[in-house]
Amino acid sequence: MFAIAIDGPAGAGKSSAAKAAAKKLGFIYVDTGALYRTIGLYMIRNHIPMEEPEKVAAALAGVQIELGFREDGQHVFLGGEDVSEYIRTPEISMAASRVSAIPQVRAFLFNLQRSLAEKNNVLMDGRDIGTVVLPNAQVKIFLTASAEERARRRCLELEQKGEPVTYEEVLADIQKRDYQDSHREIAPLVPAEDAVIVDTSNCDLEGAVEQILQIVYKKL
Ligand code: C5P
Repeated sequence: MFAIAIDGPAGAGKSSAAKAAAKKLGFIYVDTGALYRTIGLYMIRNHIPMEEPEKVAAALAGVQIELGFREDGQHVFLGGEDVSEYIRTPEISMAASRVSAIPQVRAFLFNLQRSLAEKNNVLMDGRDIGTVVLPNAQVKIFLTASAEERARRRCLELEQKGEPVTYEEVLADIQKRDYQDSHREIAPLVPAEDAVIVDTSNCDLEGAVEQILQIVYKKL
């Protein structure tokens, strides 16, 4: 099997670029952030206090997550319910970032991610794919962009969905999540030593996809 790991901070254009590149390559695109988001959703729905790691860890026993891959991409199921649409709010972004710092949560999701890569050619995006989940991936890319540019893009996205946000709020959110993600003790957001860094601050989606494909073609 061939594995491509794409890691990087929130809003670097990872998911759109990764999805498009996977389609061109005929690989399954796995968005691992959706898994952490789904756990965040479960904790919110069940009123589990996320600042209490032991309660979150205990609640994992009730979490049943599955991924499905359809023509329109990945769908995530929580206890059989397709929650793909519900996990894209700022509230769930923050919840995902919080639960993702809990070791038991990461361990819980590890096998699911690993087994997908054992059975399929995958392009997997996340924060620790190249460093922890798939350290033997044939291609590792760290996709990034300045926090300001990422906030600008996220603002546009949320505005298009009709969600009222200000640039300052979104930027503060991104900076907070960056900090939480890169300073946590377990699987912090850092490029793998052998990752190629791709900065998308000055390129559009097509440019990012093209750069990913060029890196992959050299290794195929
Ligand atoms: O990629 P996305 O923004 O959907 O991820 C939501 C949150 O899940 C991130 O802020 C990060 O805290 C966490 N995450 C993670 N490891 C991954 C993917 C996501 O810790 N592989």
